[in-house]
Amino acid sequence: MQYPDTKLLIDGQWRDAAGGRTIAVLDPATEEVIGQVAWAGREDLDAALAAAERGFKTWSATSAFERYKLMRKAAELFRERADETAWVMTREQGKPLTEAKMEVMAGADVIDWFAEEGRRTYGQIIPARAAGVSQLAFKMPVGPVAAFTPWNFPINQVVRKLSGALATGCSIIVKAPEETPAAPAALIRAFVDAGLPDGVANLVYGVPAEISEYLIPHPVIRKISFTGSTAVGKHLAALAGQHMKRATMELGGHAPVIVTEDADLGKAIKILAGSKYRNAGQVCVSPTRFLVQDSVKKSFVEGLAEAASAIKVGNGLEEDTRMGPLANERRIPVLQEMVQDAVGEGGGLVTGGRRIGNKGYFFEPTVLEDVPTSARIMNEEPFGPVAVVNGYKDVDAMIEEANRLPYGLASYAFTGSQSTAHEIAMRVEAGMTTINHIGLALPEVPFGGIKDSGHGTEGGSEAVEAYLTTRFVTTAAS
Ligand code: NAD
Repeated sequence: MQYPDTKLLIDGQWRDAAGGRTIAVLDPATEEVIGQVAWAGREDLDAALAAAERGFKTWSATSAFERYKLMRKAAELFRERADETAWVMTREQGKPLTEAKMEVMAGADVIDWFAEEGRRTYGQIIPARAAGVSQLAFKMPVGPVAAFTPWNFPINQVVRKLSGALATGCSIIVKAPEETPAAPAALIRAFVDAGLPDGVANLVYGVPAEISEYLIPHPVIRKISFTGSTAVGKHLAALAGQHMKRATMELGGHAPVIVTEDADLGKAIKILAGSKYRNAGQVCVSPTRFLVQDSVKKSFVEGLAEAASAIKVGNGLEEDTRMGPLANERRIPVLQEMVQDAVGEGGGLVTGGRRIGNKGYFFEPTVLEDVPTSARIMNEEPFGPVAVVNGYKDVDAMIEEANRLPYGLASYAFTGSQSTAHEIAMRVEAGMTTINHIGLALPEVPFGGIKDSGHGTEGGSEAVEAYLTTRFVTTAAS
């Protein structure tokens, strides 16, 4: 298979940037340049905006049933191409092929779900006070959307925004990640090949800040959706607010993981190790701050460290690889510094903590323990394969630590007690809580954060609502 160069998609045409510029794409497992992606300038963005404006007129006038049929066809095409798309994703992002394929198949399910849900965007008939008056509330598409997505899940991060927009009759300009451009292009190609009218979905790459500063204030754009770090999200949300644009913000997290002494420890370790080191920990909902009841903390740490050191790290294309490289070189020094800082603050390094080799961005699956809250890693999202395990004495102390940070994305708990499970569900401040299993991120359930982790949800029926406006019409008999 050949890794493809990626072009812009503007008004139904795959094209080079008007200025002819490109950005190199690297394989994070080998550091080789494997391709190029077109780098959009102002002229390309203007063309994409004009196309999205026309696309919105066409698509919002297309019936929900026709939109549904096209989306279902796109999902089928996307599934048929899963092996090829997964291979492309592994080359550009690094994750193991099996994880890449799961992401593609889950993406197709997301398209199906939004397609179906788009047929149920019901309005309301509101009883009137006066005879002869009818009061109707309609749900209408919000308008052209600008979506900004990161490199950790090249498909998953795009597909929720794209499907929400298309299911409701919106057009969209996706600014997909320059590091991992070909997998999102394969996703959008499935829609083009399924017959999506020109201009409804447009795809650009370039300098993220330049593109967002231009698209967000632009009058054509009516809604923003961003996934990435809290710092950038706050900046973009402020810009959106300044221009009165609706915004969904899917930002950083620092997920607490509570394990009580009556939990099934073996099960908790197995599930949490799988979840922690998936995608080399580059996951916004990654389990990060483990809070384990003092009486079982030692056994938990031993079990987690054993599971972590047994993980086969390597090139995601190799069959026995369970964890690939980090997607970006810039994360290696950040993680190394965070580990050193944690140890300097008095924490214990149980396993891992170093780069593996000097070719490819591989990092050891790492477990730290007894790290004081003053350490950087206890406050900043590591966004890598690092777990921190600290003990706790009682429920109040555990809840206080779980809620200490301004983040509130995901939280995890393993407990044998119904009442503790209930208390965690009610008192831990998180947009999503998963107890005794990992049950996050299905298309039909809410996916989003609170506090500094953002606002809005990208799953469940509210995710559809995010692309709709309510318009009220009252009519009296003439
Ligand atoms: P970064 O903050 O430079 O970039 C994160 C993402 O935001 C990238 O996709 C980038 O292209 C985009 N971005 C940055 N500035 C932007 C701007 N002004 N306008 C529009 N898009 C912009 O960080 P990074 O080194 O790529 O990743 C590390 C950090 O980013 C992590 O610590 C994590 O907090 C965050 N991140 C979060 C997610 C997530 O799923 N929530 C995904 C990737 C990265």
